[in-house]
Amino acid sequence: MKELWCWRCKMEIPMLDEEEYAIAHKLYGEALGRRKPGMTREESFKPMLNYYKEVTGFEETEPNAIMHHRIAQYGPPCENCGKPYRTPKASFCAACGNKRENKNE
Ligand SMILES: [Zn+2]
Ligand SMILES: [Zn+2]
Repeated sequence: MKELWCWRCKMEIPMLDEEEYAIAHKLYGEALGRRKPGMTREESFKPMLNYYKEVTGFEETEPNAIMHHRIAQYGPPCENCGKPYRTPKASFCAACGNKRENKNE
């Protein structure tokens, strides 16, 4: 877990590393399989939401938001402003326009 600026939420938010993400993703799939008529979205996704809270201490209510809070989706922090590059392959910082110098891809 690491707090990173989220480009979609426009705020710093706890993001999951690959190990944590794999578990959250599995719980997400199970929640989809568990859904039945009459069951609320929150009920079916409870184990996943609880897992995210356990790891991050953040009470998220939207499962889809958790699915995009994955560290590996973003690049490293910008050398200029500290916000993460929008993707691992981005060549510019979307926040400040800084040109990325060394892309280690
Ligand atoms: Zn977000
Ligand atoms: Zn920047």
